[in-house]
Amino acid sequence: HVVTKKPPTPSPLRNSKFFQSNMRILVTGGAGFIGSHLVDKLMENEKNEVIVADNFFTGSKDNLRKWIGHPRFELIRHDITEPLLVEVDQIYHLACPASPIFYKHNPVKTIKTNVMGTMNMLGLAKRVGARILLTSTSEVYGDPLEHPQTEEYWGNVNPIGVRSCYDEGKRVAETLMFDYHRQHGIEIRIARIFNTYGPRMNIDDGRVVSNFIAQALRGEPLTVQAPGTQTRSFCYVSDMVDGLIRLMEGENTGPINLGNPGEFTMMELAEVVKELIEPSISIKIVENTPDDPRQRKPNITKAKQLLGWEPKITLRQGLPLMEEDFKQRLGVSKKA
Ligand code: NAD
Ligand code: UDP
Ligand code: UDP
Repeated sequence: HVVTKKPPTPSPLRNSKFFQSNMRILVTGGAGFIGSHLVDKLMENEKNEVIVADNFFTGSKDNLRKWIGHPRFELIRHDITEPLLVEVDQIYHLACPASPIFYKHNPVKTIKTNVMGTMNMLGLAKRVGARILLTSTSEVYGDPLEHPQTEEYWGNVNPIGVRSCYDEGKRVAETLMFDYHRQHGIEIRIARIFNTYGPRMNIDDGRVVSNFIAQALRGEPLTVQAPGTQTRSFCYVSDMVDGLIRLMEGENTGPINLGNPGEFTMMELAEVVKELIEPSISIKIVENTPDDPRQRKPNITKAKQLLGWEPKITLRQGLPLMEEDFKQRLGVSKKA
């Protein structure tokens, strides 16, 4: 049977005079795409001290360059599959490769990161009495038989496929979060993030928006994976960060969907990129990968009601912001 324990009291260190006014926040995976934007936002608040723990598998120090040396900021090279001892009030737990080519590169490691990594962060949260937020994913819905997806939908996931290290890994991570919550009284928050894009995405990470923008800027054909009628819904990263902070600060455990309900087929996305970035570019259909979900669109009623959140930036507004960043990093100027 389930014993619900009271949340542990915060560590006495946290009650010392030095710490009284500040909120100390751990961001795992903070050197990555979403994590580094989250760190930027958290650092804007002078009462926040931010610690990033990252093994730099897909993230980079470059993403955090402006904070290195700042008195309220610390960067630790750490793999979260190993235990971590720090004293913090909040944990944003993002560490996990998000792009299919990276999470499939070493699938056993992806599982370890999701399972052992999340367990370590929950053990840490339990020891110090911190609130912990997990960035789960719309992939927990698998190839969904319900459309759009609500949080009540249990999903349609292949347990033995090449994507399972990621989607089943995140499903176990969600289970661990709820078991630590029920059994040990840990304060948890779960965000189910839908496809997110913006500056600092890895240029060659294989995700569709980064691929199309890099291809358009390099003058290469846009590679639409067959059949091209599959859909995704794309959220700009600043909207995502705003949603994550609202979820952490609010009173609801979730899971809560965070994403932009604007739904596009991959062919439509290619057409928009072509129109906005390089009208002379061609579009070619290429082979797809196994278990590619055919459609995905968040129902964000809960986020609207419980967090007062909805995305503000449309795809047509967000793509040019990302184009600027990619142009600088690729060192290309837009073809005339
Ligand atoms: P990302 O790959 O840019 O960032 C992940 C970060 O985690 C990287 O800095 C990486 O080095 C670090 N990391 C990976 N394994 C680690 C380990 N074992 N120990 C320590 N650090 C480790 O990905 P992102 O797009 O910023 O995604 C961040 C989170 O959001 C992930 O948990 C991802 O599953 C989730 N998410 C992202 C999307 C999206 O569209 N970007 C969608 C759904 C969910
Ligand atoms: N853990 C950690 N940092 C801490 C406390 C715990 O990394 O500050 C790790 C710990 O090593 C363990 C995991 O979190 O592997 C789960 O901790 P818990 O206390 O739940 O389990 P136990 O240590 O009793 O197995
Ligand atoms: N995709 C595509 N061309 C690419 C890369 C991806 O058409 O160059 C498609 C892919 O088949 C999938 C969608 O874009 O249907 C989103 O893929 P991504 O890897 O970005 O995210 P996820 O599958 O994790 O949602």
